[in-house]
Amino acid sequence: MPVSGLPPYDPDNIFARILRGELPSRKVFEDEWALAFHDISPQAPVHVLVIPKTPYCSFADFTAEASTEEIAGFFRAVGAVARMLGLEAPGYRMLANMGEHGGQEVAHFHVHLFAGRPLGRMVPAAP
Ligand code: AMP
Repeated sequence: MPVSGLPPYDPDNIFARILRGELPSRKVFEDEWALAFHDISPQAPVHVLVIPKTPYCSFADFTAEASTEEIAGFFRAVGAVARMLGLEAPGYRMLANMGEHGGQEVAHFHVHLFAGRPLGRMVPAAP
């Protein structure tokens, strides 16, 4: 399932354990396709993670391997979460980190939703 050259999906990653109820989370939304919960280390006044219920390491795997229903269901859920939290009018940022240069720490595909203040530059200046 992972993109070529990357390790296989680890069923004991943190988000898989949250999905199985083995670790707690501050849930904000759940449906057939997705679970959304507050990030444990928020980088903005609102920082919510949305994860698919199916096991994909990254955006790359998800978009290459998931069914049309899974992809549509997941992204509809992301939109629903933003709407439910009242983020549309002030605006928000949706972000998915992929792999090492993307800074991905948890190898279960997820989307970040950031909101609650002007979010500044899209990508920080190089160090
Ligand atoms: P990424 O770097 O895109 O893989 O983001 C992983 C995110 O997961 C980080 O923003 C972490 O703060 C967050 N995170 C890690 N463990 C937990 C947890 N147990 N509950 C909620 N968020 C978590």
